[in-house]
Amino acid sequence: MHTITMKFGGTSVGSVEAIQQVGAIITRQAEAGQRVVTVVSAMSGVTNALIRAAQDSEMGDVGSYKRLAHELRRRHAEAANALVQTTNRRERLLDEIRDLLDDFEQLCHGISILREVTPRGMDVVSSLGERLSARLVAAYLQDTGAEAEAVDATTLIVTNDRFQNATPDMAATRLKVQAKLKRMMERGILPIITGFIGATPNGTITTLGRGGSDYSAGIIAAALPSDELWIWSDVDGVMTTDPRISDQARTIRVLGYGEVSEMAYFGAKVLHPRTILPVIELNIPIRVLNTFNPAHPGTLIRPEPEIVPGAIKAITTVTAVHLMTVQGRGMVGVPGIAGRTFSAVARAGASMLMFAQSSSEQSFCFVVPDRSSSLVKDVIEQELALERARRDVDDVQVSEDVVIVTVVGAGMRGTPGVAARVFTALGEAEVNVLSIAQGASEYSISMVVAHADATKAVQALHGLLQNGNGNHPTRSGAGLKNSLPPGQA
Ligand code: ASP
Ligand code: MG
Repeated sequence: MHTITMKFGGTSVGSVEAIQQVGAIITRQAEAGQRVVTVVSAMSGVTNALIRAAQDSEMGDVGSYKRLAHELRRRHAEAANALVQTTNRRERLLDEIRDLLDDFEQLCHGISILREVTPRGMDVVSSLGERLSARLVAAYLQDTGAEAEAVDATTLIVTNDRFQNATPDMAATRLKVQAKLKRMMERGILPIITGFIGATPNGTITTLGRGGSDYSAGIIAAALPSDELWIWSDVDGVMTTDPRISDQARTIRVLGYGEVSEMAYFGAKVLHPRTILPVIELNIPIRVLNTFNPAHPGTLIRPEPEIVPGAIKAITTVTAVHLMTVQGRGMVGVPGIAGRTFSAVARAGASMLMFAQSSSEQSFCFVVPDRSSSLVKDVIEQELALERARRDVDDVQVSEDVVIVTVVGAGMRGTPGVAARVFTALGEAEVNVLSIAQGASEYSISMVVAHADATKAVQALHGLLQNGNGNHPTRSGAGLKNSLPPGQA
């Protein structure tokens, strides 16, 4: 039998209508004879609010968590009342909601007294959103006559104790997933699993990092293993670019793993970058679908890309970054400056998003997230203090108002003329390029441009996407349509 792991994001479980839609999607696949394993996010906005309340509690503000507990009780109880008609079941659900939010108040009360929230404590607080939403979705499905059960991923996903950003132990997870989920599926029960969370071997709650529900779904899909992974959100799949920047943006029909990794790393808010790692090894195809427009085929992400020679498939941007330049005449031919700079960036805890050096060796530049930039500058300047004192190296320069623009497409590899088209388009749009890097995969070219030029740059580059390079010609609008979910490939 075909097994599909499905993940629904925050907006997909964010309202009564949305949860009804989710229920219809799950039921339809199950009725079509497939085994469906579901992973859900917290209702939209809940995780942010929980984290904020814990932080406010740490500052001694007790009003904040009390207000939020009230608001979350209201929101979840309202949904429960609208979604669950059977009295017993509804009462049980309302009790569970009350208990979880009582826990939340006690946790925040404790934090407000200690005036401290540890990463471990933060994980317990931030896990509550998924524990609420999974129960809500499961109870709704039961109410519609389906056999469903809420499952806390603490009983499935085993992680290390790196709180707030835990890494799964796949071997241990596989054992638990296979024992528990397979048994449920054999009995025809639909598991509704909390995204985002896991537990250490001794049972302490951890989270997989913000946006981690995609990752949860990837881990579970790989551990089963599942035949497909379907990620449901509120857009029609992966778009060629941000539709807010270009009204020409379209859904990309097919992407290879390599292409989507380039997009995820470069900021397309498509998939959590780590999501596809567990499924990549097993060649599990991923579909990105729209809960609110389920008839739309969305994007299929598969091991091999669809290659159209020379074709650019997507343009992504990364904002909130700074461009840093290290330069000086004394750097030429001196080994080790780049290495020491890289180590300094790592010591500052920053990840380098892009790097370029010209062959004259007089300078190199790289991009880091804006929030790390002043620390990175300090740490590098300390590291290179001696060279700076000798005037071999200048002060580190920081350009703040910049954006990384990346063109992505497997068909760019080995095809001459792509870079020429890219830079001609930018030149015609009068966009000045501050730095350029191409990954060795040749799947992408990244450019740093001034913030003021970014929109112009994306629009000009989007003009290079030909129709007929495998994209859907039109974007259909979001809206609740009770139409059929797509069939399988
Ligand atoms: N609710 C979690 C978050 O907002 C996980 C997720 O939705 O992916 O980060
Ligand atoms: Mg997400």
